[in-house]
Amino acid sequence: MALPADSHVHSEWSWDTGGPASDAVGRMRATCARAVAIGLPALFFTEHLDVPRTWRAEPQDLMPHQRGFIDDTGRVDFAPLDAAGYLEAVDRMRHEFPELRVRTGVELGQPHVVGEQAARFVDLGSLDRVLGSLHTVDLGEGRAEPNTLNREHDPAAVMSAYLAEIPVMVRGSDVFEVVTHLDYAVRLWPVDDLGPFDPRPFEEEFRVALRAVAEGGRALEMNTRRLWPWLPQWWAEEGGTTVTFGSDAHTPDALAGNFPEATAMLEHFGFRPGRDPEDFWVRLGRTG
Ligand SMILES: [Zn+2]
Ligand SMILES: [Zn+2]
Repeated sequence: MALPADSHVHSEWSWDTGGPASDAVGRMRATCARAVAIGLPALFFTEHLDVPRTWRAEPQDLMPHQRGFIDDTGRVDFAPLDAAGYLEAVDRMRHEFPELRVRTGVELGQPHVVGEQAARFVDLGSLDRVLGSLHTVDLGEGRAEPNTLNREHDPAAVMSAYLAEIPVMVRGSDVFEVVTHLDYAVRLWPVDDLGPFDPRPFEEEFRVALRAVAEGGRALEMNTRRLWPWLPQWWAEEGGTTVTFGSDAHTPDALAGNFPEATAMLEHFGFRPGRDPEDFWVRLGRTG
């Protein structure tokens, strides 16, 4: 079966790859070449749209190539998205890879908190896809990512705070149509200390978050870095009808990672492809 579009891909235009002045240059082109090589029909370059200095981190919380992004006050600082440069680069890719559908987009971090500031960097309405993303929560000392907070608090409290903010994000912003990586805090769960993540103690909190996404009329991204069968199951049970697939690739080799398994899993829960590879997959209503 043909692969669906990879709806969550980063290139050198995302600050966390090092930015357009780093050795990540050329990653957008290499990613398009990789898509053609593996038969991926379409992808969305959803570059990070974040506002500098709006969350705190310590060096150990970041990847080595990102550690220079911490300022004297302990906040994460970087050049915001260069929308003009990014859009020009996408345009070049469309000419160089006419057989590939190259779509524009952003991954907008904390849209309910900094959406208005972020929207000054790019005209969101001109993009093909806006992902809503929750990377940080505030447990009293200012916003930070779950891995930072897991060192300071009980990771279970961090998980609960993360899930509790999903409905707030959905109700607080209508500029994004897809909620990405609802399992972000799961990805950062301290398995070395606590063992593998067990979703069952948090089931009701996941369900509340998923219900809010469904009631908010948004699609849920299956972030394929990790596959959890309980996530699409609970999504469907809480009324979710649409999904996208996103590898969250920051390097070409990660493009469409785990897509065969992810699509098989979603088919099992009743989701089916749309007409075009970049369409949402839709869960057909039950009859009888
Ligand atoms: Zn993200
Ligand atoms: Zn991402």
